[in-house]
Amino acid sequence: MKERVKTKKIYVGNVAVGGDAPISVQSMTYSDTHNVAATVEQINRLHFAGADIVRVAVPEMEDAYALKAIKEQISLPLVADIHFNYKLALEAAKWVDCIRLNPGNIGEKNRIKEVVKACQDRSLPIRIGVNAGSLEKEFENKYGATAEGMVASAEYNIKFLEDLGFTDIKVSLKASDVERTVDAYRMLRPKNEYPFHLGVTEAGTIFHATVKSSIGLGALLLDGIGDTMRVSITGELEEEIKVGKAILKDSGRVKDGLNIISCPTCGRIEADLVTAVAEVEKRTAHIKTPMDVSVMGCVVNAIGEAKHADVAIAYGKGAGLVMLKGEVVARLPEDQLVDRFVSEVEAFAKENS
Ligand code: SF4
Repeated sequence: MKERVKTKKIYVGNVAVGGDAPISVQSMTYSDTHNVAATVEQINRLHFAGADIVRVAVPEMEDAYALKAIKEQISLPLVADIHFNYKLALEAAKWVDCIRLNPGNIGEKNRIKEVVKACQDRSLPIRIGVNAGSLEKEFENKYGATAEGMVASAEYNIKFLEDLGFTDIKVSLKASDVERTVDAYRMLRPKNEYPFHLGVTEAGTIFHATVKSSIGLGALLLDGIGDTMRVSITGELEEEIKVGKAILKDSGRVKDGLNIISCPTCGRIEADLVTAVAEVEKRTAHIKTPMDVSVMGCVVNAIGEAKHADVAIAYGKGAGLVMLKGEVVARLPEDQLVDRFVSEVEAFAKENS
């Protein structure tokens, strides 16, 4: 795998983004932000699900005024998402840990300058959130809503902030399709050292959003690109975190818990593998020690996979083997295999944590 591209490290509250910091996973609430109780409840759900950073929309001044009370009741770093009205950014900057702006939506330069000053005063970073659907007119006219247009907009806005002496910047370049998104990030990456927030925007329901984000964010992560990310799903909050963490893990950027290798099943299957793998997943979800495990439905490939796995089950007819580092440690009836497998996994985790 390619080495991760070295970027400037910035801080969103107490979470480092870029440099050698772990790639963080973030999401966004869907409550009316001024409904403090509902917003805090959603942020706490995201926190419990494992989010590192949370963003809230600030469309009205009552939302900006609510940020103080929200911030007092949460411990996740908070990002305010601002469009159109720079006064919302000025109020939000008093309370939050980062401002996300699409400068093209803010308009007049003097207004952006005021926001930059407010962020400088509190050492807040700014995310330049370029979105293919809302490019500045000059770039849209010249390039259309293309990756080139997104990159031109990002470069323009980066320079604008740099000229004001502001460099606590992270950048996102989101489009609603994978190709433009990936092209834009790849194009911009060699041109600066700012951390990138990855995401395919408006990606759809969980099935399509998972596929699009896995392709898009996965390709970028394998290129070594990406410092923080959001998977956009039309669905429940927790799913975004779950899918985001799975993309990080399955792209190999994070080693965390079990990497479960299980066969797709076929006519040779000797056991109820679907139930067995679901049970293994559920009963080992708490384990954080990285390890490879395999759960295979018959002897055809089971022994080969088990040789490379830390812990493995090889099912046979009505019985099977539990193996540790390729060695058989138990030959048991089918209904005892998962229990023994889980205890071997727990013991392996204890020894290797
Ligand atoms: S391991 Fe056995 S059951 Fe599973 S897919 Fe391969 S041949 Fe089929």
